[in-house]
Amino acid sequence: MSDQEKPKNTKPSTKEGVKQPAKLNPNLRKLRKNRSRSLPAAPEFVEAIRKGDRVRLSQAITLVESTQEAHLAKAQQIIDACLPFSGSSIRLGITGTPGVGKSTFIEAFGKFLIEKQRKPAILAIDPSSQLTKGSILGDKTRMSSLAMEEHAFIRPSPAGKSLGGVARKTRETIILCEAAGYDSIIVETVGVGQSEVAVHSMVDFFLLLLLPGAGDELQGIKRGVVEMADLLAVNKADGSRLALAKQARQAYRNALHLFPMKKNRWQPKVVTCSAIEQSGIAEIWRIICKFEEQMKQTGFFEDQRSAQARYWFEESIQQQLKRLFEQHPAVKTRMKELEAAVVRGTTSPFRAAEELIKLFLEQ
Ligand code: GDP
Repeated sequence: MSDQEKPKNTKPSTKEGVKQPAKLNPNLRKLRKNRSRSLPAAPEFVEAIRKGDRVRLSQAITLVESTQEAHLAKAQQIIDACLPFSGSSIRLGITGTPGVGKSTFIEAFGKFLIEKQRKPAILAIDPSSQLTKGSILGDKTRMSSLAMEEHAFIRPSPAGKSLGGVARKTRETIILCEAAGYDSIIVETVGVGQSEVAVHSMVDFFLLLLLPGAGDELQGIKRGVVEMADLLAVNKADGSRLALAKQARQAYRNALHLFPMKKNRWQPKVVTCSAIEQSGIAEIWRIICKFEEQMKQTGFFEDQRSAQARYWFEESIQQQLKRLFEQHPAVKTRMKELEAAVVRGTTSPFRAAEELIKLFLEQ
């Protein structure tokens, strides 16, 4: 092959450049990674939370929501230290079917509270996310303008397998938010079932939002939920729906008269409001303040909080026992076999349970 026939070497020629020095610290990347993971000790957390540091507050809530033992242990230390600084807020539960206007209402209400020099924290309990892996309450994109407010704190629903677990996390988050200076805690839930009971067991006042004239007077909301409410507000009382909303208000007032008187002797109120036009919000706040004053005078406010603390104590015992039981090695091994035997019908559920508990207690 002559020189002309040879294919041209197209590879760019390179010159040896300046020799790069060895990395100053080859572990730098690892160190950086660890540093971002290492969080301060519990007392530092508490100090920062008490100063209103929202980043530390969020991180502490993430610890509460974690499933790792080490995180949970730290979370408990933080909660214990925050407890003396908690409890002085008003805790409000807000529920209603999807589309009733909860996030629009909370946004308007939250801003109203900020104008009143209060600091609202909005927490959510969303049972739908456990059932369907999707959520009805949605994520952080809701209430985006309230989220921009310096004096508001919004936290979406924690993930979790059981409603009990999710509710416990929310209850502990309330304590952290109160220690951080939030004085109006709003726990939002979707009005479809059990989660209202969980929310009711952690709030002082329960507000049910309703739609005007949705035909069925109770809009698929269980009677139990209506009975729990301290205030019913027919939302979307604006434009062409104003008259319908007023009719609905009257219908609910009539219906409530048939309910037995509550132990705290509070007669639930029914009002109309428009979250979009921001009307009726001041009236709702006035009712909440009146409720608080009346309950504090009669001692029911403290009684209810004590009853809630007892309820969560019992719930915690059950949850912790269940966790210990399920993690127990001997129980874990035998559980599957016994479950199969129960399904086959060769062992009774009671006998099988008895055997597992024996194993748990013996080893
Ligand atoms: P959520 O699912 O209960 O949180 O409901 P949203 O707050 O997302 O509201 C559902 C729809 O109702 C949205 O299109 C809102 O703009 C609308 N909406 C909420 N509040 C009002 C209100 O007071 N009046 C009217 N006309 N529409 C409203």
